[in-house]
Order: sequence, then structure tokens, then C-alpha cells
Amino acid sequence: MVAGNVKITNLLLLGGTAEALHLSAELANFPNLKIINSLAGRTHSPKLSAGEYRIGGFGGIKGLQEYLTKETIHLVIDATHPFAEQMQRNIQTATSLSHIPLLRLGRNHWIETPQDQWLPAENFIQAASILEKLPNKRVFLTIGSQNLSYFRPFSDIFFLVRVIGSPSQAVPLNNYQLIYGRGPFTKQSEKDLLVLHQIDLLISKNSGGAHTYAKIMAAQELHIPVLMISPPIIASANMYQTVTQTHDAVAWLQNQLTKKFSHLI
Ligand code: NAP
Repeated sequence: MVAGNVKITNLLLLGGTAEALHLSAELANFPNLKIINSLAGRTHSPKLSAGEYRIGGFGGIKGLQEYLTKETIHLVIDATHPFAEQMQRNIQTATSLSHIPLLRLGRNHWIETPQDQWLPAENFIQAASILEKLPNKRVFLTIGSQNLSYFRPFSDIFFLVRVIGSPSQAVPLNNYQLIYGRGPFTKQSEKDLLVLHQIDLLISKNSGGAHTYAKIMAAQELHIPVLMISPPIIASANMYQTVTQTHDAVAWLQNQLTKKFSHLI
């Protein structure tokens, strides 16, 4: 788009994470850049930064490609959650087909320390089969609200389930208590919660980043084991860059803008 003599670059920022909010705020005053923040629409009252938003799915790869063309998107940054596997795959394919530069703003996964007691699981199915063999009966289940049904068979286990907002469907568990909370949390408040509910096992996705790490530190200090579910491995043949820091995403953007307009200099 050309506004007067100034060329505007349209950036699609796929979000739903603290990282996307942070980056969006950093880029708010970037000259000649229009940011369109995109959310899936899972949360009723999502945290929003300033700027333009679109909410809801695109309609798979085809819908995404149509959107990229219709809105004349020049650049895409995918800052979705490490477990948002479908969206990551779709944007890789759509940007590759549409020849649009893509950056992945991801996270470093959490690494087990000698003080932790982790039981690693590759996915939710494996986590449920590990749980079957454990003696633990009071579990803090912090995996969001989407994959709770994997734990439906465990009617003799009490689950403390933390979610951001009211789940859109009935909770598929027999013996549970819902609590609401949006990170970041402090280590002390997480310890208090674990003690209050007499939790003897934490089930968590290895989401990485600092935002929700306090529960892992709290479990470590209380010697509570953690059933830790690994993020999906998203292999891609597409050439795109991955960074884990906001400033590196800003540098990528600056570099893309320089390349885009170098013929005008
Ligand atoms: P997903 O399984 O990878 O995506 C399912 C579908 O939801 C996508 O195919 C797409 O629909 C739509 N979608 C996902 N992210 C979108 C976005 N940012 N903007 C527009 N549409 C989006 O994703 P998910 O795991 O359900 O996560 C949904 C959102 O919640 C993501 O934005 C993610 O960053 C955030 N989130 C996820 C988790 C998690 O643990 N999964 C945790 C915190 C935040 P169409 O195919 O119709 O385009």
C-alpha cells in the first residue's frame, strides 16, 4: 500500500502469547508499518496490545492464502504457542506457497535441572499411560482446557485444573476443581497453591519461556514430581528463520524492510 509517497508494509503477527503482545508493543511506533495481530478467539477476554486485530481462524491453508493476498500481507511473524501445532504448520505452508517471508518467534524449552524430578512424556497419550502406573492421587493439571479428555479415565485421582477463562465445553473429568488464573505467577503463590491443595504431582506442557515457569520452580522446591509433556516437533522443508528474543525479531523485521526497499535507495 502506498500512502502519499510513503510505502506501508503490512505485517501479520500470529499471537495468543505474551511474546506476541510484547513484540506488538515494541513495534507500535515502527515507521510505515501496519501490524495486524491475529488471535484464534479461544479466550473470551484476551489481553490485547494497541493496534489492529483480527480474531478467529482463517479456514485452513487455503483460507490463509486467500487472506494473505486480500490483505496484501508482506511479512509474517508466527509468535503462536509452541503447542499450537496446526497453526504453525499452516502458516509455514501458506507463506511458502505465497512467497512471503516468515519468521518464527518461539521459545527455549525448559530444561530439567538436577533438583527437578521430571517424568518425561512425548505427548498427552504417553502422559496418560505414565499416570496410570503412578501412585499419585492429587494432581495439579496445567495443560489448558483443550486436552483434558486424555485424563478422563482417572476417576480415583483428584485434578486441580487451572484455566484462563471458562472452558467452552463441559470439563471431561470426574473428580476435579477448576481454578482461574492468567500468568505470570510467582513461585511463592504457586507453592501456596500446591500446599493448599495437597498436590503430589504436577502435569505440565513444556511450554518454555519465563511466563509460567514459576510452577516448575515451586514443584522443585516442594519435591513434587512433574509429568512433563514435550512440545510437538514441527519439521518443515520451508526455509524460515527462528528466533527466541523480541529484539531478534525486531532486527529481522528491520532487515526485511531494508531488503524490500533497497531498490529505492
Ligand atoms: P492450533 O491447534 O495450532 O490451531 C487450530 C486452529 O486455530 C488453526 O488451524 C487456526 O484455524 C486457528 N488458529 C490458531 N492460532 C491462531 C491465530 N493466532 N490466529 C488465527 N487463527 C488461529 O492452535 P491452539 O493450540 O488451539 O492455540 C490457539 C491459540 O491459542 C494460538 O494463537 C496460540 O498461540 C494460543 N495458545 C495456545 C496454547 C496451547 O497450549 N496450545 C497456550 C497458550 C496460548 P484455521 O485453520 O481456521 O485458520
